[in-house]
Amino acid sequence: MDRRSQSTTTNSAADAGSLHCIVKLGGSAITCKNELETINEGNLSIVSSQLKQGMISEPCHGMDWSRRPGSTDIQTVVDKFDDKLESQCKRLIVVHGAGSFGHFQASRSGVHKGGLNKPLVKAGFVATRISVTTLNLEIVRALAKEGIPSIGMSPFSCGWSTCERIIAMADTSTVVKALDAGFVPVLHGDAVLDTSLGCTILSGDVIISHLAEHLRPDYVVFLTDVSGVYDRPPTELGAVLLREIAVHEDGSWSVLQPNLQDEVEITVAAHDTTGGMFTKITEAAMIAKLGIDVYIVKAATEHSARALKGPLPGIQNKNKEFYTNKKWKLGLNTYVLPPYIIPLDQVTGR
Ligand code: ADP
Repeated sequence: MDRRSQSTTTNSAADAGSLHCIVKLGGSAITCKNELETINEGNLSIVSSQLKQGMISEPCHGMDWSRRPGSTDIQTVVDKFDDKLESQCKRLIVVHGAGSFGHFQASRSGVHKGGLNKPLVKAGFVATRISVTTLNLEIVRALAKEGIPSIGMSPFSCGWSTCERIIAMADTSTVVKALDAGFVPVLHGDAVLDTSLGCTILSGDVIISHLAEHLRPDYVVFLTDVSGVYDRPPTELGAVLLREIAVHEDGSWSVLQPNLQDEVEITVAAHDTTGGMFTKITEAAMIAKLGIDVYIVKAATEHSARALKGPLPGIQNKNKEFYTNKKWKLGLNTYVLPPYIIPLDQVTGR
């Protein structure tokens, strides 16, 4: 059975109105991967600002009323708000990964393998959630500082659960209600209950493809710490960026460009309990199969700034059937979007 048809949801795409975009803030991009529970402040601030520029007109500043360092009280700014000035934010969902938050606690205790009856796993579950929700709060705060009406939403607390690590219960109506109310929901990779294993880790990339399937955004952007998918780990000498990836009917994928002699090699960090780049490309392929444009770009670059401004202009084939966003222009320079994923049935029209 298709894994998608197994999950229970109580909403449909029609409930969602028109969702503009789902953005994944990759854990590797917004945290310092090798420094425990450390945010990459520089990247987070650039990405938050790029999100503001791409998604919001008249940002409503002054949403973060938390105590500033060195201050004893909260500086409220209520008299600065102007009732007539309505901020307009595109319907947007943000999902972030864990990076150096959560992965360590999860992998040390084995939360991803289940067994909640074991004291270590239970403690690891609690520790993982403390860690990922701490990161979630910081991201919500960074977005709020930019005037984005962000609201943290944890999959566990929204009642999401899995069965054998596959999403089994994931009611998106709470997310839709937040969108309808004009908020930007900020979800994250989380420790969740699993009806078969007891518990597991639900990856941000899997959450994205579930949301994309049910809420049908115009496009999805994965922001990560590399420029896309390479033929081998990008740290290896001679790694080549893949330009075009075709998605087959069964969700598997293959490289169209460049012409590769060998298989694509993807490595996953030992502490990463969610499958790293392998999961990302698998989930991105599932989203592309739905006919939704997917971009995997490096965070805090001009590529991410462009991708967050909106779906990229397409190039038509001579039969006007096939659209590709493979190439796009910024100023005088032409960039190849790394990598653009296209459903295979659309390739044959070329
Ligand atoms: P994120 O945390 O941004 O969601 P991941 O950490 O899951 O991203 O995946 C990105 C990492 O995958 C990169 O840091 C990169 O080093 C690694 N990686 C391993 N193999 C590949 C590959 N073939 N192409 C691209 N990245 C790869």
